Amino acid sequence: METQLHMFLFPVMAPGHIIPIVDMAKLLSSRGVKITIVTTPINSISISNSIHNNSKSISPSKIHLLILKFPSAEVGLPDGCENLDFVTNTAMIPKFISAFDLFQTPFEEAVREHRPHCIVVDMFFPWANDVAAKFGIPRLNFHGTGFFSTCASEFIRIHEPYKHVSSETEPFFIPCLPGEITFTKMKLPEFMWENYKNDLSEFMKRAHEANSKCYGLVMNSFYELEAEYAECYRNVLGRKAWHIGPLSLYNKGIEEKAQRGNKSAIDEHECLKWLDSQKPNSVVYVSFGSMAKFNADQLKEIAIGLEASEKFFIWVVRKVKGDEEKGEDKDWLPEGYEERMEGKGMIIRGWAPQVLILDHPGVGGFVTHCGWNSTLEGVAAGVPMVTWPVAAEQFYNEKLLTEVLKIGVGVGVQKWVRTVGDFIKSEAVEKAIRRVMEGKEAEEMRNKAKELAEMAKKAITENGSSYSDLEALIKELKSFAF
Ligand code: UDP
Repeated sequence: METQLHMFLFPVMAPGHIIPIVDMAKLLSSRGVKITIVTTPINSISISNSIHNNSKSISPSKIHLLILKFPSAEVGLPDGCENLDFVTNTAMIPKFISAFDLFQTPFEEAVREHRPHCIVVDMFFPWANDVAAKFGIPRLNFHGTGFFSTCASEFIRIHEPYKHVSSETEPFFIPCLPGEITFTKMKLPEFMWENYKNDLSEFMKRAHEANSKCYGLVMNSFYELEAEYAECYRNVLGRKAWHIGPLSLYNKGIEEKAQRGNKSAIDEHECLKWLDSQKPNSVVYVSFGSMAKFNADQLKEIAIGLEASEKFFIWVVRKVKGDEEKGEDKDWLPEGYEERMEGKGMIIRGWAPQVLILDHPGVGGFVTHCGWNSTLEGVAAGVPMVTWPVAAEQFYNEKLLTEVLKIGVGVGVQKWVRTVGDFIKSEAVEKAIRRVMEGKEAEEMRNKAKELAEMAKKAITENGSSYSDLEALIKELKSFAF
């Protein structure tokens, strides 16, 4: 009998990293691979729920959890603060990140004990290359983004074009990147600026360097979406990569989609009932992912812009910046807003069943912060998007949506900020929403988005591009293992 391929998957403790890894675990497991997800006690609860509840695609017994202690006390974080989502102020971020290196020893011990054939480890654990080398196994990197942004940020890191502009707003071309894409220094993460030293810059440098030297990259993307950039990654940067997404599409059925990531703050059936009563493509879904926080003034502008757009909407407000820090419940809605919006707009305070909502035919537009998971979920649902990037690699994803794929309209954000971005006025919110929902331009974007959604579905079916690339990956790993 053939030995079963065994893989360790170790995501960084943040929803945007854990969610696609859990999807990946289900996918690999459905293709006969034994999976062990490595995580910490608190994160194991939601992971276990996502795996064991209502999953139609896998036998849960095939996915194992291996739990490592989160070194909260060692890095000066409160007990239980095991997910970036629980971080309540920016001063806690460097402490959280300093915990990542402390996982090396326990992870290495786990590899020694369980002897997986391969490890898929987040880019934020740069030491994983050394662990893999020690045991003679491949280290695959997963950092939860796409080919376009990976190529763009690598070319900027290598060629430093921002050194040749005279201001933060003067555009420069991203060297080597197909499509003559321009960017500005203002949209770059501050840790990439020359001479800029902060708590993250050294760590990020190490992470990118390790990334460029690992065995290969597993990408939550599909070839047809960014073919030119997939080729560029492989042929110009000369690195190995396998595209196996969109991973969100492996969640089947209402319960599985609703339970993805976290417990939903609303009853999914109520939400679907409300959406069922709306016309096709008439509702705008507004969400900024799991990390971005806006202050009360910005939320008020969004509320006014939504009302002025005269569209039906579902708006997810996860956290209000200022609340946790000052301990006060700030007033972030205009007076009488919810009464006026009764039946027209739904505000979800907390976690929304995002994929379930986006996939509903009533949804016709998505205001997104361009986190890669959300971007790809919007593509897979075939909806045009209003792009509102905040941090991380979101400004590159905005470029992909607005300039390459042409299924998005920018709301006008200019500056990368770690947790909360530019102040955007309600008029800009209204205008961008109208552009993706009304008239000829919206129709053209919607048609393109629907075509991409079809391609995404084909990519994961038998002989589709993602299906085949996963097959190739498994074959290659087996050639090492046995
Ligand atoms: N998400 C969700 N409900 C929410 C907020 C987020 O299901 O209320 C999911 C979303 O579908 C996506 C992930 O959380 O899969 C967020 O990842 P993304 O890369 O979009 O952004 P991040 O949270 O990492 O900034």
